[in-house]
Amino acid sequence: MKDDKILQEEMLTDDELEKIFLQPSDFCEYQTFYKNLIKNCTGCDIFKFCHGGCLPQRYELKNKSEKLFAEYCAGKHKLVNYIKAGVDCALSEP
Ligand code: SF4
Repeated sequence: MKDDKILQEEMLTDDELEKIFLQPSDFCEYQTFYKNLIKNCTGCDIFKFCHGGCLPQRYELKNKSEKLFAEYCAGKHKLVNYIKAGVDCALSEP
């Protein structure tokens, strides 16, 4: 059990609490990640199919490795383009 001194050091001040309630996104790492991620995704040519993908999965990948994070999108492009090619081919048949 923590002693009172440690608990007091971990407590938020009234000003800190007020800031969190008024600007929650400034204190939530996930919200910031989401905003930046979607901002980058809107320029993607498969956004209308992917919509940013699985955000928790991307968050995990980003924290593990930039290369894995980039491979997630490369995989999505490959999958969507593969499906699209099959659909385009099927629709073009007489
Ligand atoms: S492929 Fe990547 S960049 Fe494109 S919409 Fe999906 S997650 Fe975003």
